Amino acid sequence: MSILHVKGLNKIYTGKVATHALCDIDLTIDEGEFVGIMGPSGSGKTTLLNVVSTIDAPNTGMVRINNSDPYKLSKKDLAIFRRRQLGFVFQDFNLLDTLTVAENIVLPLTLDNKPLTEMDAKLKQVTALLEISDILHKRTYEISGGQRQRTAIARAIITSPVLLLADEPTGALDSKSSRVVMESFAAANQQKGTTVMLVTHDPLAASYCQRIIFIKDGRLAAEIRRGENRQTF
Ligand code: ADP
Ligand code: ADP
Repeated sequence: MSILHVKGLNKIYTGKVATHALCDIDLTIDEGEFVGIMGPSGSGKTTLLNVVSTIDAPNTGMVRINNSDPYKLSKKDLAIFRRRQLGFVFQDFNLLDTLTVAENIVLPLTLDNKPLTEMDAKLKQVTALLEISDILHKRTYEISGGQRQRTAIARAIITSPVLLLADEPTGALDSKSSRVVMESFAAANQQKGTTVMLVTHDPLAASYCQRIIFIKDGRLAAEIRRGENRQTF
């Protein structure tokens, strides 16, 4: 089943000079896939991620996430859709320093007024999966970069999103922490079945992906699947 389906996507930024940031992008990601998006700086990776994240509408083209068109939803329904269906992980972690690790992780459930027993059960489950059960009562400034990113991944998957989106998740980390963080994405993908799409420059992060899509000048340029030969579009 496809979790993400985009067709004929075009994104043009207007300004002094118009930039055609995405040109005729067609892309399907199936349930359970682990996909990396790579390409040179300025090639449109962030723009593609923003369009898929439902925060930046395309000029033309279709976006379907789990068979619905997020850009047809009202502002209020879109906020709910995003919180329930999507998970986000950023380069700079985006955690709240005034909260503990546990409080950060359950935040999306708190916003949805979930019962405490459900929050507690889910917290136990995701923190065991990501091996961070021993730091739950720490503040985010007391833990390492790798632990922060695992906390952010736990927060992103606690709602069981249909699609987990990440923008340069290892960009602020050393190689050792990057490995630990990528193991966490792999655990979410393999053990929880979470579909993952991440944008990265980092070959180490890319080595964990089952499929890598290269974009260049706003177009799909090539694709590699683990164990298959390179295909060009
Ligand atoms: P990447 O993530 O691959 O570095 P981006 O998606 O950020 O690429 O950018 C693609 C192109 O669109 C670049 O030429 C960039 O300068 C341009 N661009 C991105 N965002 C904007 C914006 N908000 N306004 C104008 N141009 C933009
Ligand atoms: P990255 O290299 O990680 O993709 P960028 O530095 O290209 O990040 O872009 C950072 C942010 O600035 C993005 O949200 C993008 O939309 C915006 N941006 C990029 N290029 C432009 C531009 N030419 N004009 C306005 N905003 C831009």
